[in-house]
Amino acid sequence: MKAAVVRAFGEPLVIEERPEPEPGPGQVRVRLEASGLCHTDIHAARGDWPVRPSPPFVPGHEGVGLVEALGDGVTHLTLGQRVAVPWLGRACGRCEHCLSGWETLCEEQINTGYGCDGGYAEKMLAQADFAQPVPDGIDPLDAAPLTCAGVTTYKALKVAAVRPGQLVAVSGVGGLGHLAVQYAKIAGATVAAIDVTDDKLDLAEELGADLVIDARKEDPGEVLKRHGGAHAAIALAVNEEAFSAAYSGLRRGGRLVMVALPAHGTIPVPIFDTVLNGTSVIGSIVGTRQDLAEVFDLHAAGRTRVIRESRPLASVNDSMEDVLAGRVTARIVFDLRQGS
Ligand code: NAD
Ligand code: ZN
Ligand code: ZN
Repeated sequence: MKAAVVRAFGEPLVIEERPEPEPGPGQVRVRLEASGLCHTDIHAARGDWPVRPSPPFVPGHEGVGLVEALGDGVTHLTLGQRVAVPWLGRACGRCEHCLSGWETLCEEQINTGYGCDGGYAEKMLAQADFAQPVPDGIDPLDAAPLTCAGVTTYKALKVAAVRPGQLVAVSGVGGLGHLAVQYAKIAGATVAAIDVTDDKLDLAEELGADLVIDARKEDPGEVLKRHGGAHAAIALAVNEEAFSAAYSGLRRGGRLVMVALPAHGTIPVPIFDTVLNGTSVIGSIVGTRQDLAEVFDLHAAGRTRVIRESRPLASVNDSMEDVLAGRVTARIVFDLRQGS
């Protein structure tokens, strides 16, 4: 089987021929149909973050495909069933986080495409309990971006505790942001979308944003303040200044939800303003299996649109460059179906 492999940080990925992996107890082997390119995969391939994967590894945590082999003890999935393999590849199931509905904070978790091989391949292994069934009727090319971009922004909106009528700023309308705009609308918010490319701003409007802010031309914080300030801002742009701008656009009591992970990112949080204004700065990491089930249900019900372009896996290096250069409308999905 073919896989796109990171052999060294910062080097182009190499398409390799590898043996088919055999599922161990509790695992399944998935024949992939689609695999999304998340900006996280670029951070992984470059070794951007304090905790790094160990090359060689196969990135990808938006893999969707059909179960084609069952390991010992797997009884709840069937051969041929479509599943998604998210970032949360496994969690311990016993710690306080796992037991309190926060399995995404489990300290023993293993992350797909980071701590174990991921979905940039024709086949992959998944822990059966964390392979999420994809409802019938969802196109695998849509299911892929929902598996990270969808669940992450859906969860961020929950963390932001948005109520109907509130002003929500979505900073960065890329793979994650184009879905964040839609979840914020579903939550009943008035949405201000911020980006630095015309295509993304047009897309945000098309997806229902009430206000678009071009951060090249205007200070997003000032524009948000002119509208009374944001009750919540979801930081999805891979850019520290964008975090600070979103923070400065909060109204009193507002919440900045940090999601993007720029390399070595920090922002100054002014103590006086934060105290006097009662603002919160909160981190949000992907979502649980239940969150992903809800994301798929919303999509199956026709409530969300996934904007994506499909490409062959062989385009992986050019595709990463295109994401970095802002040349992608929202999400690239590698189409891994045979003959494609
Ligand atoms: P992306 O490249 O598709 O989207 C980023 C968007 O930000 C682009 O539309 C870009 O034009 C825009 N942007 C760039 N500079 C900006 C600025 N100054 N102001 C406003 N917008 C700006 O990336 P993505 O796949 O959506 O991922 C975004 C980030 O989220 C990455 O750092 C990724 O690692 C991270 N991420 C975090 C989680 C989590 O659980 N916390 C999950 C998935 C991804
Ligand atoms: Zn991701
Ligand atoms: Zn745990």
